[in-house]
Amino acid sequence: MNKTAQPTHTPLLILGAGPAGLAAALYAARADLEPIVLTGPALGGQVSITYTVENYPGFPEGVEGPDLVGRFQEQAEKFGARLVLDTATAADFRRRPFRVETTKTAYTADAVIIATGATAKQLGVPGEDDLIGMGVSYCATCDGHFFKGMDIMVVGGGDSALEEALFLTRYASSVTIVHRRDQLRAGALLQKRARSHPKIHFLMETVVTEILGDDMVEGVRLRHVVSGAEQERPTAGVFIFIGHHPNTDLFEGQIALDDQGYILTDKYTRTNIPGVFAAGEVADHRYRQVITSAGMGAAAAMEATHFLEDNERLS
Ligand code: NAP
Repeated sequence: MNKTAQPTHTPLLILGAGPAGLAAALYAARADLEPIVLTGPALGGQVSITYTVENYPGFPEGVEGPDLVGRFQEQAEKFGARLVLDTATAADFRRRPFRVETTKTAYTADAVIIATGATAKQLGVPGEDDLIGMGVSYCATCDGHFFKGMDIMVVGGGDSALEEALFLTRYASSVTIVHRRDQLRAGALLQKRARSHPKIHFLMETVVTEILGDDMVEGVRLRHVVSGAEQERPTAGVFIFIGHHPNTDLFEGQIALDDQGYILTDKYTRTNIPGVFAAGEVADHRYRQVITSAGMGAAAAMEATHFLEDNERLS
């Protein structure tokens, strides 16, 4: 279909197919809204690149991220949700029905749930962009196996950095965690596990100022933040886990965002535009769990259902 063709209309359009989008799709499908879900570039969102999810209720043994996403998808589709491998490129929420352009076509919708998630932050140092995929990575599950028997680094001091560092010990011969402060941000249990792991080492109060290498990562330039001392260290890989930024560029100027760019909602997932709801990490930088995102997605679908029913009654 091309963009000049008539847009496809749906009562409910869901943007994003991570836990929030897929849970919203399940609830909306069961309410007979026949939702269309635009998956965006990554079906499943961040959980699809998570090795094991150990804290999703109902899976006491843990479940692999892609497996969990596959189950979410299967359940949503079973009840009639339609997943489309396409990405929204523009949105117009100023008129009804709402209109969303995509890379392939266009959609109109009476209600929209935004569940576009968040993306890994970059360090912004020289060498980082040039060496992505050649030793610089933001995904241990995707790239860890390339580093069998090698010495690698992880940047960050939060739960993600420590969890992924522990995962990377399956492959690497050593994992050095580089963190900018003298205290880790990660929870106590992860800290204990990382600190007692024989392959994990720490470089505290240290920042990466440059990633070195021509075609492949060969090392990093580091600076001690207190003494200012600089050094170069060889490493085969730099895994960066320093947080995320929300995928809301598309909605700037239309949907109210907070100062970090996250969508502002009330406690019922409603944005400032009636009929547009937001769920998951695009609106939540506090909890950021699969279970909380899925819960928000279910709530957004229930709110969208009420909104559409009320509109029908009034029209
Ligand atoms: P986070 O908690 O925001 O931690 C980011 C880390 O990166 C911090 O240590 C921060 O340093 C560091 N950092 C940020 N910008 C940096 C920069 N420009 N240069 C160097 N270091 C930088 O992010 P996260 O680890 O991705 O976790 C996000 C949320 O998900 C948290 O709520 C976390 O609890 C949750 N999570 C939970 C689990 C789990 O429960 N198993 C697993 C993963 C994530 P500072 O400490 O100095 O700020």
